[in-house]
Amino acid sequence: MTPVDTKHLSLNFTNCPIQLFNTERRAKQTLNIENGQIRLYTCGPTVYNFAHIGNFRTYVFEDLLRRTLKFFGLKVKQVMNLTDVDDKTIKGAITKGVTLNAFTQPYKEAFFQDLATLHIEPAEVYPAATDYIQPMIEMIQKLIEKGFAYKGQDGSIYYAIHKFPRYGCLSHLKLDELKVGASERVAADEYDKENISDFVLWKNYDSVRDGQIYWESPFGPGRPGWHLECSAMAMQLLGDTIDIHVGGVDNMFPHHENEIAQSEACSGQTFVKHWMHAEHLVVDGKKMSKSLGNFYTLRDLLKKGYVGVEVRYMLLQTHYKTQLNFTFEGLDAVRHSLRRVQDFIRRIQEIKGTKDSGLVSPVVESTLHAFAKALADDLNISVALAALFEMIREVNTLCDKGQVGESEAAEILLLLQKINQVLAIFSFETPLDLIPPELQDALEQRNQARQAKNWPEADRLRDFIQSHGYIIEDSVKGARLKKINRVD
Ligand SMILES: [Zn+2]
Repeated sequence: MTPVDTKHLSLNFTNCPIQLFNTERRAKQTLNIENGQIRLYTCGPTVYNFAHIGNFRTYVFEDLLRRTLKFFGLKVKQVMNLTDVDDKTIKGAITKGVTLNAFTQPYKEAFFQDLATLHIEPAEVYPAATDYIQPMIEMIQKLIEKGFAYKGQDGSIYYAIHKFPRYGCLSHLKLDELKVGASERVAADEYDKENISDFVLWKNYDSVRDGQIYWESPFGPGRPGWHLECSAMAMQLLGDTIDIHVGGVDNMFPHHENEIAQSEACSGQTFVKHWMHAEHLVVDGKKMSKSLGNFYTLRDLLKKGYVGVEVRYMLLQTHYKTQLNFTFEGLDAVRHSLRRVQDFIRRIQEIKGTKDSGLVSPVVESTLHAFAKALADDLNISVALAALFEMIREVNTLCDKGQVGESEAAEILLLLQKINQVLAIFSFETPLDLIPPELQDALEQRNQARQAKNWPEADRLRDFIQSHGYIIEDSVKGARLKKINRVD
């Protein structure tokens, strides 16, 4: 293949500033970058069951963010925690009668498998909460020394939220209007805005509730509160101040609010420069729930015959600040769009020996700029995808007229590879090996039947192939098989 000049394909954060919505400021802000590096903290799963597609909506968005930052030449250090001790994991282990580790380990492994299925790039560090108990204890000691934490009558340690005037800054709550008192403290890991209160940092051991699951500490045996886990792991691995902290919108209160209170009271520094939150996912317009029968894990969708990239694309294509309505019609439409791109890639890969027309470079250049500009504008994925599909339409027209030369084809492939660094949904391998061998054989027999002018046999083989979901396409290189789109 002819070497391609790629100078015009280089874009970075200095010539294309990145604007992201900051939940705390309620506005888009230019990302402040020091030394070309981004410290990114992403709240990870509680490993007590398989993650559902609502969870993966957030993780896919975080992957889009991570890949976009890298696309613009930034170095990313991402930490994603694994919550392997909290109310839910302890309950699960006790119910099953196994150790906490034996209970959580299979879910940790399943989570990593699911990430790979969805082409989610691994974070640099996946700390498990149970490996960071000591730093958590030290943080609580510091909070007690500084007067932000106290021992409740039940022996647990609580955070006194009225001692931290910034409490509520993220979810924009006004503490003085909410009449909060220590008497209203909660020991549960999760609660809502109706129950705003002092929250637990160290949960005192209860032999009936906790079985054999506890750690020794200066405050007595027990285990850390969920909110403290993220604060401690984030600060241990990324330092007192993080560039971007991301999570689902349901984590904003109380989880992220509590993280700010704990970390900033401890360090005296700003904990997070930029907060981002992904909106909910609903199914057929309704909240996903087991009782409604519309609850899906990634594994449920794979069992229905969908593949990882289809689910990824489905979760990716709605802007993260918009509620995503998951439907099977939507997933089928995604399958159709992806096939369109794959057909296009194959068409371009087959261009050989034609002369350049000079008409392709301007299309490639404007597409890349439109794609990059859209992503730099708070990850505007719909505009970015529109640029891609407009390019495919234009280049298909040029191909119809024989106006795409061999080195121009290489330039288009390079553009698609660059775009795929962010989207991670295309394959550049020839899909021939995916066609079932009996259909390849049938195609070969049909060719022979046609040469022998045995038309009934050729027609029978054609029908056989079509009944298996493929059509025969005649090209200059001979007949080949193409999968029929189910949605057509
Ligand atoms: Zn967290």
